[in-house]
Amino acid sequence: MEKKQLFAQSLIQKIEAKEINSVGELNKAKIRLAGKIGLNQLPPNPTILSFAKNPSLRTKQLLGIKPVRTISGVAPLAIMAKPIDCAHGTCIFCPGGEKSFFGSIPKSYTGHEPASMRAQSNQFDPYLQSFNRLYQFAATNHNLQKIELIVMGGTFPSFPKTYRHSFVAGAFKALNDFSDLFFAPSGFDFKKFNAFFDPKKFEYKKQPISFQKKLLHQKGKPVLKKEQKKNETGSVRMVTFCVETKPDYCKQKHINDLLDLGVTRVELGVQALDDNLLSFSNRGHSVQDSVMATQHLKDSALKVTYHMMPGLPHSTSEKDIGMFRELFENSDFCPDALKIYPCMVLPGTPLYKQYQKGLFSPLTTKQAARIIAKAKRFFPPWVRIQRIMRDIPTQFAIKGVQHNNLRQFVKQKALELGIECQCIRCREAGHLQQKKSFQLKPNNATIQTIKYEASKGMEIFISAEDLKENALFGFCRLRIPFKPFRKEITSSSALVRELHVFGEPLLLGQKKKDSIQHKGLGKQLLQKAEEIAKNEFSKRKIVVIAGIGAREYYRKQDYILKGPFMEKTL
Ligand SMILES: [Zn+2]
Repeated sequence: MEKKQLFAQSLIQKIEAKEINSVGELNKAKIRLAGKIGLNQLPPNPTILSFAKNPSLRTKQLLGIKPVRTISGVAPLAIMAKPIDCAHGTCIFCPGGEKSFFGSIPKSYTGHEPASMRAQSNQFDPYLQSFNRLYQFAATNHNLQKIELIVMGGTFPSFPKTYRHSFVAGAFKALNDFSDLFFAPSGFDFKKFNAFFDPKKFEYKKQPISFQKKLLHQKGKPVLKKEQKKNETGSVRMVTFCVETKPDYCKQKHINDLLDLGVTRVELGVQALDDNLLSFSNRGHSVQDSVMATQHLKDSALKVTYHMMPGLPHSTSEKDIGMFRELFENSDFCPDALKIYPCMVLPGTPLYKQYQKGLFSPLTTKQAARIIAKAKRFFPPWVRIQRIMRDIPTQFAIKGVQHNNLRQFVKQKALELGIECQCIRCREAGHLQQKKSFQLKPNNATIQTIKYEASKGMEIFISAEDLKENALFGFCRLRIPFKPFRKEITSSSALVRELHVFGEPLLLGQKKKDSIQHKGLGKQLLQKAEEIAKNEFSKRKIVVIAGIGAREYYRKQDYILKGPFMEKTL
């Protein structure tokens, strides 16, 4: 009997015998079975189902359910640096820090968020956090070959350089070791994976931390440049890399260091566009700091996500709505993506004292939903609203937005007001596909361009869209820089800050056949960017920011590595 058939039939037998009762159990059983039989690729559910002679309803339902996937194509791996206090003091709304109310927790977190719980149980070690997260991805059958690395927990550039570099090196090393240990040329090796993590015989179960530390030690101390180089061709690649910082820790020297680390996207805690509001909140930076940081980041080809905080002390709903309008009407701002976190009152913060004295009352869920719904009117088609609401569990907020499903409230309010959001997230094909009864086809896409001035340069947003369905398959951010300070970027350079093709990522070991990600759309978008740069702006060079693990992709398009960038002469 063919291995695949054996696999499918054993699995179906287990479902029919009620040994498998949930998608979670199904995924675990698949991995166990693949290891036992020696399969290197998991057949997709429809294939498995095709081997069933007379499938019962429960078999059909279980194999029909799509496992949870990371819709935008890349698995997010969030790790946290150790807790340190901020040099400027404490923002009035900020929980966390050393010896905080919640214990020693990274700044701006409570220790109860999923990522910060993982960080604590791994003693804030980057290697252990990353390695264990990859284990979780594999054990739940997520594809983990494309990783977005996210460093959270306060102001990373404010750490000493040696800490920053060894922290990032540790994360890269975890990706590389995982790749060495469990990937064969033919695909993921479920057998090795199961043997390594076998709870029965394995010291890992008893003392996972000390065991993994030993593993780390055996394989030598992580060296940043070496691990980066190795990751370029590994099986678990870091394709995007994001770091959180404040606008006052995002000057040229900080940006140079972020580029050395391999960062491709920066999340800036801008919070407000009014110096009074910032100083009431003791933010330790000005609006001008945000303007300059944004320009320097974009002129270095980096992507910029803003964190904005409606409901700060001394703000009003009208002011907050006006702030979102200004974000996109004033070309000094125009971030590529947005995270909106309404101000909450958390115990142990200075704001909590003001609240107790009756000097401050936070937004309610309804008020926050109304502000954000109205703000949607101003969101252009080139911005991505990444997240509404912190992942701070709301039971820890004394007062303020009490619902973790704020996004639902916002949706409802926007519907009432007749506002349709045009942002990237609302239009991306992966998300839309879940609502459609027919297949959205990238072949129907037309290439569109939008030009807008931003941070004194010119942005050209090139997208592949199904205009009839208002569906976005991918996009490219081309920039004509204003005042670049990197030597790699000259007056004849145009920048590609982002190239993104959406689609459902593949399951671990699944063949790349039907996914939107592999139809050559990326190539088309990149060629269009090259054409525009050359023909409309007379540029002679394209400089791309690419995640370390995406460098090979650009090499195939005739780009070469120059400093932290990939470049091509036109
Ligand atoms: Zn939207």
